[in-house]
Amino acid sequence: MTERTAETTGPRLGGIFDYAPAPESRSIVDIKSSYGLFIGGEFVDSVDGKPFKTISPATEEVLAEVTEAGPRDVDRAVSAARAAYTADWARMRAADRSKYLFRIARIIQERSRELAVLESLDNGKPIRESRDVDIPLVAAHFFYYAGWADKLPYAGFGPNPRPLGVAGQVIPWNFPLLMLAWKIAPALACGNTVVLKPAETTPLTALAFAEICQQADLPPGVVNIVTGAGDTGRALVEHPDVDKVAFTGSTEVGRLIARSVAGSDKKVTLELGGKAANIIFDDAAIDQAVEGIVNGIFFNQGHVCCAGSRLLVQESVYDEVLSSLKRRLGTLRVGDPLDKNTDIGAINSAEQLDRIKKLSEIGEEEGAERWSPPCELPDRGFWFAPTIFTGVSQAHRIAREEIFGPVLSVLTFRTPDEAVEKANNTPYGLSAGVWTEKGSRILSIAQRLRAGVVWANTFNKFDPSSPFGGYKESGYGREGGRHGLEAYLDV
Ligand code: NAD
Ligand code: MN
Repeated sequence: MTERTAETTGPRLGGIFDYAPAPESRSIVDIKSSYGLFIGGEFVDSVDGKPFKTISPATEEVLAEVTEAGPRDVDRAVSAARAAYTADWARMRAADRSKYLFRIARIIQERSRELAVLESLDNGKPIRESRDVDIPLVAAHFFYYAGWADKLPYAGFGPNPRPLGVAGQVIPWNFPLLMLAWKIAPALACGNTVVLKPAETTPLTALAFAEICQQADLPPGVVNIVTGAGDTGRALVEHPDVDKVAFTGSTEVGRLIARSVAGSDKKVTLELGGKAANIIFDDAAIDQAVEGIVNGIFFNQGHVCCAGSRLLVQESVYDEVLSSLKRRLGTLRVGDPLDKNTDIGAINSAEQLDRIKKLSEIGEEEGAERWSPPCELPDRGFWFAPTIFTGVSQAHRIAREEIFGPVLSVLTFRTPDEAVEKANNTPYGLSAGVWTEKGSRILSIAQRLRAGVVWANTFNKFDPSSPFGGYKESGYGREGGRHGLEAYLDV
């Protein structure tokens, strides 16, 4: 048996063999030491901002210095977007807009390996996910909306649907480039121009996207990228010349944004938090369900708004599900995000790690039972072992609040009615999962779940043609699919 390295640890598979390190090379990415803002088609210096650093959460190594845009920078970006909207983009033949979007999609495919490595470095997510999930979906979103650009009169919004104007878009750190694609692709397809602010911990792939816009010869000002934190985001959404605000992030900030745009003409979509129920009935294929539970909560370290963070198991299969789940968790490999065998990477920031630790401690204090597989964590960087809480009641904070980390709360139920009642007992309503062999039960349960997306015998499946969005405190508006066009059209 070979020695395990500190960076990549994982249990020995039944004591049979162990994995050798298989790191993806980072030589494919060329990270500059510092970046300005992308305004009017060029990288420019800030006029009233200041520099800050972005790090790799797996090593705490500084990756680059980026710019925290000030209000005057934001104003310049909005003006550039307005000028491009008036002069070029909204007037251009729709078929030509779609050519640019197809070009961007193809460049993303060509540069996919580089983008995957950059995303894993800046965010901490495993390369297996950035390479096989995030970046292919980014390209797919641009291809999908490129196809819509010249077919808008047939989208069901009247014969001549008009764009809104300048969109101010603020995105989170959990799927940096994918959230950018969800925001920018439909906005551009509909003829809007954009100013986008990536999250402060993950600006690098958005800046790489700015280079891709240059490479695609996109008219200057159609896409502008302003980096920064909450203050930059606030300056953007409050800017009077922004016609449309699109936000993905916490419910707390979503509320602030809803308040700040109330009374204005701005159109708003908010994609906020979640606390999804993943419901396992006793007739489900248990091995597949266990894979779905793992994918539901441990994908992307649980930094997923639609994560299946509340497991509801029918009592009669509770023991079987729990023992399979624990055995499966014992095979998950936590460590170096760039290692191709890594299942769980780094927690995105020290702040997020604190939040996860605090809520997990509260779970124990409230009386739930905490379990993690044996798992060595690297010394540097931000790490949290995959964790299960059993004996959780609906009143526990870990059953109600979004933890946004690799932490699963397990509850049980006896009847379908009880499952539905417990699943809906949350202020959120973004997603849910149902596992059963009966088609009729899938349909009846899905109908009664107050969630924007219900997965049946699968979880965390995304497709650009499928709408996504929430009920209640999970926000409003839909992204993706034909529905996603509506958010960027004057209808
Ligand atoms: P956040 O809502 O603070 O940040 C999301 C984005 O909003 C970032 O780009 C941030 O800079 C920006 N922002 C912050 N304050 C703003 C303001 N006043 N006006 C405009 N923009 C502003 O989220 P966070 O602090 O990074 O994470 C906190 C919690 O949010 C997490 O624990 C998780 O529960 C939740 N979250 C949800 C999602 C999601 O996809 N729904 C994503 C990230 C975080
Ligand atoms: Mn980072």
